[in-house]
Amino acid sequence: MPHYNYVRVETSAPEGTVFPQPKFSPRGAVPGKPGDRSAFSFKINTRLDGKHGRTGVIHTPHGDIQTPCFIPVATQATMKAVTIPQMKDNGAQALLSNAFHLYERPGEAVMNAAGGLNEFMNWDKPTFTDSGGFQVMSLGAGFKKTLAMDIEGMKNDDVIADGKERLAFVDEDGVSFKSPLNGGMHRFSAEISMRVQHNIGADIMFAFDELTTLMNTRKYQEESVDRTFRWAQRCVAEHKRLTEERLGKPYQALFGVVQGANYEDLRRKAASQIGSLDFDGFGLGGAIEKNILGDIVSWICDELPENKPRHLLGIAAVDDIFAGAENGADTFDCVAPARTARNGAVFTKDGRWNIKRAALKFDFRPIEEDCDCYTCRNYTRAYVSHLLRSGEMTGATLATIHNERFFIRLLDDIRASIDGGYFFEFKESYLARFYAKGSKG
Ligand SMILES: [Zn+2]
Repeated sequence: MPHYNYVRVETSAPEGTVFPQPKFSPRGAVPGKPGDRSAFSFKINTRLDGKHGRTGVIHTPHGDIQTPCFIPVATQATMKAVTIPQMKDNGAQALLSNAFHLYERPGEAVMNAAGGLNEFMNWDKPTFTDSGGFQVMSLGAGFKKTLAMDIEGMKNDDVIADGKERLAFVDEDGVSFKSPLNGGMHRFSAEISMRVQHNIGADIMFAFDELTTLMNTRKYQEESVDRTFRWAQRCVAEHKRLTEERLGKPYQALFGVVQGANYEDLRRKAASQIGSLDFDGFGLGGAIEKNILGDIVSWICDELPENKPRHLLGIAAVDDIFAGAENGADTFDCVAPARTARNGAVFTKDGRWNIKRAALKFDFRPIEEDCDCYTCRNYTRAYVSHLLRSGEMTGATLATIHNERFFIRLLDDIRASIDGGYFFEFKESYLARFYAKGSKG
């Protein structure tokens, strides 16, 4: 492990802290006892003919998730611009927060003292945290959007965005990184990620993995898959130890993450290695080229045990969601719907379009005629367009509510189509209409 002057991190509340009374009673949390693992399980309902796609139910200590399902991203223990009651009204079944951001601010000691993520943000339904690896390893590197990046003619193990300094350094034991908030040196490893995620206390968390980019060489991808497997073994061991140690808390499910970029043999190897460990479910992560997304999900699902849930990390293009659900992904998350909304674009069944256009000034229809979201039930395109063009914060709120509802509903409709036996017809007509005008997204 390299020698840096690491910033000291608070892992417990200072003496004299007055702790809040818990509001929720998660299943399987018994005073003086470790979390009851049977509070987490997965049941398959309907299987898609000839494919890995299925519908099911994930049972967690904070309730059930009907799958396939879209999980909105509450990065900093909040949705941007939208409140928790608004997300409930929007039909969100679960929220995903970011372990790295919560580690930086407000810190794991605050999250633990608050009684965990659910209590802190007053959300009584299931929660996820990612491991922090993606954010740590993205620091300063030019691969924030691994899916979208142009890889033609490029193979480089040391890709740094123009004008940026390298901020993260991977070694066998973990990653050292400079905090983007204050420049202090920090360390993440399998054990630290598990400690942080236990202190945050989400129902579902992810093992610490190494994120590679499509620009890394084949040799580096091979080494990385092996390293991620060693880190996964350490995560499982540390998770067991912490579960035994943290008494009176609900069981937290741990998902192993499958990497391997675009290589079929590496994806299969990674999936069978990660699938052999005692995980509660799996994350499908890393660099994926859009045109083979369905194939990659399918290769992975060939190798994974089928009775555990699978989460496709960070994907929300409409065609990618269909490809993911068809080939075996159960849950999906992405920041794109909210980010797109803040930039003034909305998703509808007729594609994605810019709501700030001057042409909409006198358009008094809802964003989408048959949308059941709060925004479409109460406001016009003209109004939302006016708010966004004026830089009013409520513009971002109303557009975000609509876009999140669009993806929640898309996955709800996909689930109904698998259960109803009409998935392939539904997919064909939905995609034809969505992309008819050359829409992106
Ligand atoms: Zn709407």
